[in-house]
Amino acid sequence: MGDIADIRAREIYDSRGFPTLEVDVILADGSLGRAAVPSGSSRGIHEAVEKRDGQANRLSGQGVLCAVEIINQIIRPAFLGWPSDDQIGIDSQLIEMDGTPAKERLGANTILAFSLAVAKAQAAFQNLPLYRSLGGDEATVLPVPLMNILNGGKHADNHLICQEVMIVPLGAPSFRESVRMGAEVFHALKHLLHQAGFGTSVGDEGGFSPDIYETDQALNWVMTAIEATGFRAGKEIALALDMAASEFYRGGRYAFSPRRKPVLAEQLIDYYERLAHNYPLFSLEDGLAEDDWAGWKELTNRLGNRLQLVGDDLFVTDCHRLRWGADRHIANAILIKPKQIGTLTETANVVRLAEQVGYRTILSHRSGETEDTTIADLSVAWRATQIKAGSLSRTDRLAKYNQLIRIEEDLGDRASFASKLLHQRKST
Ligand code: PGA
Ligand code: ZN
Repeated sequence: MGDIADIRAREIYDSRGFPTLEVDVILADGSLGRAAVPSGSSRGIHEAVEKRDGQANRLSGQGVLCAVEIINQIIRPAFLGWPSDDQIGIDSQLIEMDGTPAKERLGANTILAFSLAVAKAQAAFQNLPLYRSLGGDEATVLPVPLMNILNGGKHADNHLICQEVMIVPLGAPSFRESVRMGAEVFHALKHLLHQAGFGTSVGDEGGFSPDIYETDQALNWVMTAIEATGFRAGKEIALALDMAASEFYRGGRYAFSPRRKPVLAEQLIDYYERLAHNYPLFSLEDGLAEDDWAGWKELTNRLGNRLQLVGDDLFVTDCHRLRWGADRHIANAILIKPKQIGTLTETANVVRLAEQVGYRTILSHRSGETEDTTIADLSVAWRATQIKAGSLSRTDRLAKYNQLIRIEEDLGDRASFASKLLHQRKST
């Protein structure tokens, strides 16, 4: 009944117009699980690698027909007939068949698309929403969204080095209201930027990308937008940054501003300290580079009790790197991107480890996304308490927030919103 009867793969297109892989898993009773994989542009050097065709004359080498072939020639024969409720067995077999630490043989895109499609087929077979199939009756907590309404870095065509300026509606009573608050600020920001003569086109994650130069300037714009809506900055809506610092780290120095000389980690931490003092900053992601462990240690010593310090490229959703960091008290939160590691089971294990070592978890999209909303369900299933899925524009971003609105409705009275948990943990 729950056996895998067919596996189909195809090349589809992501939110940036690049090809990506979609896989269907069909069970003997006709249940369908479909998963599409996202793709990043500010990738960590330690993350698992994806399979791309590399033929310069077709889609700039970005095609994934080789991944489709791997599904058809290798994955399909190996998994037909396998029971869909054996996610752990399937994922272990995938890891074994690949046999490389960075998933180079089969590709993280191939492995993840299949792994997620199996989970979704199993949920369909059980006639349950994915969040409940994976999380059971205890999956009732809706995550706080970190909404990226101003884009810079690799995700936008402007001079801002900081990659993401996010709002965090910590004062919302429910998920639905948190999205409403985000949308109000988003529209206020558009109005303000337009009035000041800036373009209001958006970057890869749907946030505005005015041609500004400094992170402080970006924070000022967002603060003004929050105030224009009547919400209290800091009380109801806090701020978060993703610096994606590996992108501007060269020769031991950080080129964090186009108008200033590159600085050492210590001086960049001084700058963050000033930001934390001047703005209601709640979270700082990848404030330093992916292998600058000494800098990260210093950052955590100085700001770890005031800020959520999130490792994205630093930890790459990897148990070993998280363990290494946690043993040394480096950072206090981890970004969770399933494609950085490959299988659903490995991703779940990292979330479990984070819980054990007392690090917060934030489920995350990628800059190149699809209509697939799996991360929304995962954030509830695993009680991640936070999700980062982009801005309040572009359906590839809103699809995740909309799915969480549906989940909240589905849970009814049993639903709760994670903001209280974040306040509690911060003060302990
Ligand atoms: P990416 O970046 O999806 O382009 O890798 C997102 C992030 O850094 O959080
Ligand atoms: Zn990041």
